[in-house]
This record gives sequence, structure tokens and C-alpha cells, in this order.
Amino acid sequence: MGELPWQESQPELWLVDESWSVRANKVVSSLMDSHQAPQQFPWVCSGCNEPNGAAFDMCWQCGESRP
Ligand SMILES: [Zn+2]
Repeated sequence: MGELPWQESQPELWLVDESWSVRANKVVSSLMDSHQAPQQFPWVCSGCNEPNGAAFDMCWQCGESRP
């Protein structure tokens, strides 16, 4: 087995990685701007009037989905 050539290509990979993370951050922040926090608040079930926490997509009591 000879020397491992991948070590030389690592700095290049990191550069690519970095530019991608910058682009990814721009995409993420533009998504955050256009999509205001989707329903991160408590809600009341329309089926049984049970208050549900923001984390629930369904009523924990009767299974009714979040309106
Ligand atoms: Zn319910």
C-alpha cells in the first residue's frame, strides 16, 4: 500500500464545503423569511375543546387533527 492521496485533496474539499455552507445559510435564511414560524402556538381542539400544546399536530385526547 502506498501513501494515501486523499489527504492532499482535503483542503479543497473544505473550501467546497465552506462555499456550500454559505449558500445553504442564505437559502435557509430566505426560507425563514418567507415562512413565518408555522403554527408554533398552542391550539384548542375543535372536536373536544381540549387545549393542545404547540408541539401537537393532533389532539392528544380525541385525535382530531390541528385546524
Ligand atoms: Zn380533541
